[in-house]
Amino acid sequence: MKNNGIDYQTYLKKYPDEKGNFGKFGGSYIPSELEDAFKQIDQAYHTICKSSKFINELRRIRTEFQGRPTPVYHAERLSRNVGNVQIYLKREDLNHTGAHKLNHCMGEALLAKYLGKKKIIAETGAGQHGVALATAAAFFGLKCEIHMGEVDIAKQAPNVARMKILGAKVIPVTFGLKTLKEAVDSAFEAYLKDYKNSMYCIGSVVGPHPFPKMVRDFQMVVGIEARKQFLDMTGELPDALVACVGGGSNSIGLFVPFIADPIEIFGVEPLGKGKALGQHAASISFGSPGVMHGFNSLMLKDDNDQPASVYSIASGLDYPSVGPEHAFLHQKGRINYTSISDEEAIDAFFALSRLEGIIPALESAHAVAFATKLAQKMKIGSILVNLSGRGDKDMDYVLKHYSDRL
Ligand SMILES: *Cc1c(COP(=O)(O)O)cnc(C)c1O
Repeated sequence: MKNNGIDYQTYLKKYPDEKGNFGKFGGSYIPSELEDAFKQIDQAYHTICKSSKFINELRRIRTEFQGRPTPVYHAERLSRNVGNVQIYLKREDLNHTGAHKLNHCMGEALLAKYLGKKKIIAETGAGQHGVALATAAAFFGLKCEIHMGEVDIAKQAPNVARMKILGAKVIPVTFGLKTLKEAVDSAFEAYLKDYKNSMYCIGSVVGPHPFPKMVRDFQMVVGIEARKQFLDMTGELPDALVACVGGGSNSIGLFVPFIADPIEIFGVEPLGKGKALGQHAASISFGSPGVMHGFNSLMLKDDNDQPASVYSIASGLDYPSVGPEHAFLHQKGRINYTSISDEEAIDAFFALSRLEGIIPALESAHAVAFATKLAQKMKIGSILVNLSGRGDKDMDYVLKHYSDRL
């Protein structure tokens, strides 16, 4: 199915509903002590997102600080290498800090400022969200507290250094497995203690309402720009869209502005080392309905019905669930979800570097890999890929594991 038979404005009005539901997914499952705090964020966002002062300020920040609009680029050599289909890249890697994450972090921090908060709090896994949020905090003069598992701190030294240089306080989480799941609990707890002075900032289109909606709205700048740019460049819409799906923010931001267009849309999940539980993080392809981290979606569960341990070569994609809007659009059949293995992603990483002079993030390489496969299948037409980030952060890993390919 290419569209829902629903126009774009109606889609935005209907989804999510005022409680944050996308069909049976989404909602808000939080401790009762936090209900007031999340209600305050929801109401403030509801009002502020219509204020021209807020919109103009965000627009100015995007232009002058982030470097938007990011270009759409026709990857001619990559296209020719796989056949006749023309592949285009939305260059989110050219955003300040090198990825799309700043699109929502600047929005969230601006909202915190409007709410009169002094501090923003978040957890981070690989550290990408932490760095983007620390950047936003520095820009607005807010305090920033990032909770991070001790195991992740040891693995991600450069990102920990960046956060500290930017003035953020990195709080080591020392209980349980000392990774992302515990960092979420620790950040929630810190927020609970201090929600009058602080705001919790989620790093993707996940978590309790209003975050899946709010982060989507902030990321939609990607699709709104890309749709116009692509039309200006070619006079047509692309035949297909492709983006990688971790929590789902860069993909939903590209996809939703095209939701009513008669085109195919593909979300690419990480297949990691294979289909066995624990070897991948493809929550839509292999998951089942459930509630975690405060929202209802598709998730990967272990034998005890707890979030399963997941894996991907791209640390930004290894999350055991996915944004509720993706679960909904999957169920509706509007978006096709597929997956790409570590090895396929690495091949695309080198292909894009060597054919185009663009070193992609390993996350984004999943989207490029699927686009090249799709191009071979389609034979004719065009594909627009969201290049969510640049690969500088992945240099050490690639050098260590793939030096034979240099
Ligand atoms: C974090 C990250 C992702 C995954 O997050 P989404 O919310 O799924 O977009 C993808 N690409 C890059 C470069 C990232 O840093």
